[in-house]
Amino acid sequence: MDKNETNLDNFTQEIVKFSVLKIHLFALVVLVASLIIFGLPFYLIRSEYTISIINSIAANTQNNQFNVLVGIIGGFIGLLIGTAIMIVHELIHGIFYAYYAKNKWKSVKFGLVLKKGIAYCICTEVIKIRPFFITTIMPTVIMGIVPLIISLINGNLYFFFFGIINMLGGCGDIYIILRFLKESKDSYILDKSNEMCMHIYRRNIL
Ligand SMILES: [Zn+2]
Repeated sequence: MDKNETNLDNFTQEIVKFSVLKIHLFALVVLVASLIIFGLPFYLIRSEYTISIINSIAANTQNNQFNVLVGIIGGFIGLLIGTAIMIVHELIHGIFYAYYAKNKWKSVKFGLVLKKGIAYCICTEVIKIRPFFITTIMPTVIMGIVPLIISLINGNLYFFFFGIINMLGGCGDIYIILRFLKESKDSYILDKSNEMCMHIYRRNIL
């Protein structure tokens, strides 16, 4: 056996599948929770500013007739920003996988499932459950929770929206962590999220 391979002789494997529908429903829970935890304080601290911004957006929408060109450019910019967010999100997973995996970047794979419209970053070797949790939650912390906290300090609505978008982007990750939260810290996991499942390896009780 390769010295860089984890010995799983005394472990039992279980394949845990995920339902896309459940993750989509869970996105609603994440949205509502984020709005209560961060949106409510943001509104209370920055209510005048928030209301003035919303009013100005509403006034602009009423005054300007819908401009097809502006719509197309706006949509295109939105698509570019969305793609950039997705790439950075997966890259953060990759950095943490490379840090924890025995074979470092050699075990990190990025890809796209065009049919499902998802980008993924997986690790081709098993890693312990706690490093897996850290790897899985980091994009949501760095791109979601941190900008939301900053928005509460500086009152910037862009930071707030950026944070909310990234909380939604991380809903699948949060869902997966909650699913495995009760696993023993001795367990290993193999990320097969590109196949909408995870392989979990639990140590046999001797
Ligand atoms: Zn993710």
